[in-house]
Amino acid sequence: MKLYISCDMEGTAGICSWNQCDPTNTTEYPIYRRMMSREVRAAIDGARSVEPCEVLVNDSHSRMHNLLFEELPNDIRVLSGYRKAFSMVQSGDEGFDGAFFTGYHAGIGVERAVLAHTYSPNVLYGVRVNGVEFDEALLNAAYLGEFGVPVLLVTGDEALCTAVREHLPWVECAQVKRSIDYYSVDSVTPAAAIELIAEAARSAILRRTQARPFCVEGPVTLQIETVGVECADYIALVPGFARVGGRSLRFSGASYLPVFQALIAAMRIGRSATERA
Ligand SMILES: [Zn+2]
Repeated sequence: MKLYISCDMEGTAGICSWNQCDPTNTTEYPIYRRMMSREVRAAIDGARSVEPCEVLVNDSHSRMHNLLFEELPNDIRVLSGYRKAFSMVQSGDEGFDGAFFTGYHAGIGVERAVLAHTYSPNVLYGVRVNGVEFDEALLNAAYLGEFGVPVLLVTGDEALCTAVREHLPWVECAQVKRSIDYYSVDSVTPAAAIELIAEAARSAILRRTQARPFCVEGPVTLQIETVGVECADYIALVPGFARVGGRSLRFSGASYLPVFQALIAAMRIGRSATERA
């Protein structure tokens, strides 16, 4: 089978701080990028214990070049680099049979969810699709759903797993930690996380015929709340976005694809507005 893996970092076992996920941090980040890489490796190994998998891994955290190649199998492809037009789901349209989301986290505003945010915490305060709050897992699952790709596995904290199960009940969840609050976790050890993820990946592939692509039926309305008014000022310049409040914007599309593209564009433009004038 052809397997797509989008790997984030905040949901890696043990991680409880932005420092551990910050590529400019020279003490903790090197430790945790290795753990992130090993969790991706575990997911691949678990999947391959069931059937041969052609694997594309999309490094999806921060500057998007976190993975240590020496920790990965030598017969996979890896997407590295920031920025990618389709961000955490870049190249998800290349005919995959299923997807894994590793190291994921809950969406912005979720209680007891470590480092919870949705794409850009400096720009996005809330994202709703057809009135439903969407986190990264749902936003990305819906993009892949447009190409018939079902999400089979997510790994991360309990808050993520609870949210994913609500909308994508067929997804196998590897819960490597429980968040105590935004900056603290009750986690299994990295070694235990690797076993857990490999086992979950294995059952995800074994049960993959039960999984379904997550499809958002059109027409689709996106509503975003920005952190600052200055972000909304610039996003509102983009044709198609309607300003519906000081920090609120709405975008409508016939299907999910243009809406997802509009969200990525809004995030990029909004980010440029966060630079201090
Ligand atoms: Zn991240």
